[in-house]
Amino acid sequence: MTALEVRHLHKRYGRRVAVDDVSFTVEEGEIFGIIGSNGAGKTTTVESIAGLRTPDSGSISVLGLDPVADRAEVRERLGVQLQESSFPDAITVAEALELYGSFYREPGDWRELMELLGLTGQRNTRYKALSGGQKQRLSIALALVGSPKVAILDELTTGLDPQARRDTWRLIERVRDTGVTILLVTHFMDEAERLSDRIAVIDGGRVAAVDTPAGLIAQTSALQQVRFRVDQPLDKTVLTELPDVNQVEVVEGRWSVTGTGQLLSSVAGALARAEVVAHDLRVDQGNLDDAFLAFTGRAPESPAQLRKEG
Ligand code: ATP
Repeated sequence: MTALEVRHLHKRYGRRVAVDDVSFTVEEGEIFGIIGSNGAGKTTTVESIAGLRTPDSGSISVLGLDPVADRAEVRERLGVQLQESSFPDAITVAEALELYGSFYREPGDWRELMELLGLTGQRNTRYKALSGGQKQRLSIALALVGSPKVAILDELTTGLDPQARRDTWRLIERVRDTGVTILLVTHFMDEAERLSDRIAVIDGGRVAAVDTPAGLIAQTSALQQVRFRVDQPLDKTVLTELPDVNQVEVVEGRWSVTGTGQLLSSVAGALARAEVVAHDLRVDQGNLDDAFLAFTGRAPESPAQLRKEG
């Protein structure tokens, strides 16, 4: 089942084109990442999906509904955590969850959510007294309090320290395991790679690529290297004749095979056919940072950079 479908979305602010032509589909139960540089059009895309912006052209379907025409129905089914959410300073965690829950026809159990998000200890803490990580977790809880089928999370871990980021990732996986489809907007390649089933790379208001994290890396990392040792004699031609292999070197018993495509499985298959066991096997290939650079011509921002700016 398709949860979200965006087709040829186009949106401009005055003369500035924010989203030129964006299309993608998100299947039910997926964590779908959207990555792109500052100003690429990510937030405008997700705000259009949430019905907060009206597209100039193109179409959007959220569980078969139109976010603008069916706004009330979409609100019931779609949870949104956008950048820079702000709440009244004096509201407590429990009050905020209860209040937001009351906006929905069939809210979830906000106490359960508070527990899931690790906020039960702060239930009577006022918003202004929460730490950055707790505020972030509250904003995720508020996006989920209506028991949405689909949740949009924009810049989930910006400003959080490394431990809080990892905790938040585990939390998102738990939310996904409860059956919620997640659209995750992020600047961070590690976050996108760790969490997303598939990722859209958006650049200059257009989709530069959509694939699994491994697929994006494989599409762009020209060369990979597989290194290993063997404990039996091995004829080099077993490897050099493989279609994905460019070069085979043996230095002091350490084999190094360079190539492209499905290099690891080709090499593993050839070794198995030759009945040779590989030891100390290592694979070096590009990562999502390299893939992002290849698709956009820009290096991704690092979490530290963003914390400084933010
Ligand atoms: P960031 O990562 O910085 O949040 P983004 O990928 O989410 O960026 P958008 O916020 O969608 O990008 O912005 C896309 C373009 O549209 C940018 O050039 C931005 O300056 C412009 N833009 C966004 N919102 C408005 C607005 N309300 N009025 C005018 N221009 C806008």
